[in-house]
Amino acid sequence: MPARSDIFTTSPAENRLRYMRGYLCGAMDRVVDGGEAWRVALQRDLAKLGVFWLDPTQKPIDIGIEDPEMRVKVGALKRQDQFAEASIPIKVIRAVDLRMVDHSDFLVANLDLEVHACGTYEELFLANRQKKPVIIHIEQGKQNVPNWLLGTFPHEMFFSTWGEVREYLKHIAYSPTVKHLNRWMFFHPPFKFDPESVANFWLKVKKTPGCWLWNGRQFPNGYGNFRCRGKQHLAHRVAYELVTGYIDPRLHVLHQCDNPQCVNPSHLFAGSQKNNIHDMFSKGRQGARIQSGESNSNAKLTLKDVKAIRSNTTDSHAVLGRKYDMSAVQIGHIRRGKSR
Ligand SMILES: [Zn+2]
Repeated sequence: MPARSDIFTTSPAENRLRYMRGYLCGAMDRVVDGGEAWRVALQRDLAKLGVFWLDPTQKPIDIGIEDPEMRVKVGALKRQDQFAEASIPIKVIRAVDLRMVDHSDFLVANLDLEVHACGTYEELFLANRQKKPVIIHIEQGKQNVPNWLLGTFPHEMFFSTWGEVREYLKHIAYSPTVKHLNRWMFFHPPFKFDPESVANFWLKVKKTPGCWLWNGRQFPNGYGNFRCRGKQHLAHRVAYELVTGYIDPRLHVLHQCDNPQCVNPSHLFAGSQKNNIHDMFSKGRQGARIQSGESNSNAKLTLKDVKAIRSNTTDSHAVLGRKYDMSAVQIGHIRRGKSR
């Protein structure tokens, strides 16, 4: 088995923990302050990380609220042997808290070995089964970690002080490399084009009063080729997406100006394959640009499709049209196309 410390990750673009959800796990019902103080302090001290904290003392939902009044009520019901009644609010609290554990990307737990904490342990073991990173602060110090926990979690995840917890989380967020990966997984942020790539993109654009010309690499068919994170993108499609925020992946981005080098968003519009073919033929450039679909990974018709349509001498236009979701007339155009 390879040592965990052999695993490294690449540098964070900004901070690896931004937008991650962290659950703040720890006793609430047998501690003087309801378990609020450490949660408040940690959120304040790590505010810059941009973590979305899931805090059971400040539930982001209006059910399963655990407050002193509720605890007094449940205590009274238990003393009166009314266990069914007493269990009702607790079942909701448990469900909400465990759901927050489900939703979280990682946990920070506070463990006071002198406080009985059934819920804390259930949450810890649930997160452990989910293979989440679980950072455990032990009030009595790491030296006193319960043996069972030592056999359950990676030992690097136990800490004696909150200062160490904060330093560890900052290390995870910002260090160029992360040693002791311990279950952390860093997926690309939800943005296809990160700020650095966006800046690089616009550096390659020369704006004229009309068209904005792409000065970077080009695909063989004349369309701009923007490389980002090892992938190639149609430059005009990127420009359109950066301005509109979203393109239906089934749609093409088409030029009103008929200039493939142009990335001026106001010269672009989104349309279907049908529009594309129509647009192409209405502009009389079917021979030259029929393969444009190939460079767009989302295109319905790839170069391979075009070749297949052209080499197919048995099926009718209509049969192929149904197969490729096009009209028989469009298939005819493709079959008669001159390129390749
Ligand atoms: Zn243009």
